[in-house]
Amino acid sequence: MAKIKRIWAREILDSRGIPTVEVACQLDSGHFGVSSVPSGTSTGTHEALELRDKDESRYHGLGVLKAVENINKVFAPAVIGMDPTLQEVIDNKLISIDGTENKRKYGANAILAVSEVVSKVGAISQGLTLYSWINNLAQRKQIKAQMKVPTPIFVMIEGGLHGAGNLDFQEFHLIPASSKKYSDALRSGAEIFLVIGKNLQRRGATHSFGQEGGYTPNLFTNADAFEVIVDSIKQTPYDLGRDVFLGLDAAASFFFKNGGYTIKDKSAPMDDNALLEFYKSLNDQYHLEIIEDAFAQDEWKSWKIFYNLLGEQLLIVGDDLLTANLTRVQKAIDEKTCNAILVKPNQVGTVTETLDVIKKAKDANWKIIASHRGGETNDWFIADFAVGVGADYVKFGAPARGERVAKYNRLSSIEIELQ
Ligand code: PEP
Ligand code: MG
Repeated sequence: MAKIKRIWAREILDSRGIPTVEVACQLDSGHFGVSSVPSGTSTGTHEALELRDKDESRYHGLGVLKAVENINKVFAPAVIGMDPTLQEVIDNKLISIDGTENKRKYGANAILAVSEVVSKVGAISQGLTLYSWINNLAQRKQIKAQMKVPTPIFVMIEGGLHGAGNLDFQEFHLIPASSKKYSDALRSGAEIFLVIGKNLQRRGATHSFGQEGGYTPNLFTNADAFEVIVDSIKQTPYDLGRDVFLGLDAAASFFFKNGGYTIKDKSAPMDDNALLEFYKSLNDQYHLEIIEDAFAQDEWKSWKIFYNLLGEQLLIVGDDLLTANLTRVQKAIDEKTCNAILVKPNQVGTVTETLDVIKKAKDANWKIIASHRGGETNDWFIADFAVGVGADYVKFGAPARGERVAKYNRLSSIEIELQ
């Protein structure tokens, strides 16, 4: 069995122009792999810690040279000589070297970069595709993981921290019917995306692009964003409610202040009841398939009421609420606050821990959505990971922009390979 011969890291830029960590790994067999980690913009407060240098003289304090050094000086010597197919053993070693609950000593960005590159070379050393190897790891954990290309959730319009300061909700989604072949789903998303752009232009709704490649228009209300998407769908051969559906990531923690939720659709801040009524009316009108982060990340009571009301009708997705954290996921299962989880490996920090979270969520019959981050690289690890764990959905942003389509296009290749 091949052994890890060399691991070395460097600082690269992500899609926002902010540094992130890239790591390379070479085996004594000559096999070689590279991985880089994404970074959130609307980061949940319960996520594992992303280590930043805080040296204001470089990249406004956002450099990752310490994380790079932690890989080169601490993690590399610890894993050199190890068999890269021992993913769980290696991940546990990284976790125990750090020794903190949220990986604040050496940084979740350093740890995940190593964990991911190990899975890549682990796959290559066995002559396996990454998704097959991830599936193998998932099966060993008794995860019910049937390999398939998940349904894409396209981010068409963006606001919140990802936008240009106009809309409050972070993401307005278009979701092709899950019965569609992936290639048809991708085509419908891309075709409708271009029509939305033309319609925004025609309306004079000046727009630029958000962090995930979606449009960031100036509109009077958040609900208008759905209106634009619906109008655009009508100008294509696709039918809303049959071929495509709508979804929302409110990312409500970011418009929650002093117990109130402020959005431009209403003249005054709303309490949780009023916001719930607002979502209910949106859902009555647009028959949403998913709502993610409807309430702020520690407002468990509001989530519970929301789930009671709409849990039978749509997917109630926890992202900032759960941060892929096993304890929080267990609490959400016990308290019945969600029926779906957004899975971002860098919220937790290793491949193994991400698989553990997926196991818990799947055992509770939740839907799994594998997700990119606001700040991305062209690494398509998450696409293979999603297929390997049998995720129901993927959310990789708009069907546009290099770092987003790198992942959607990777799924196109996998679709062909799985035929
Ligand atoms: C999200 O909130 O779903 C998201 C992808 O954003 P970020 O990566 O900025 O947390
Ligand atoms: Mg989110």
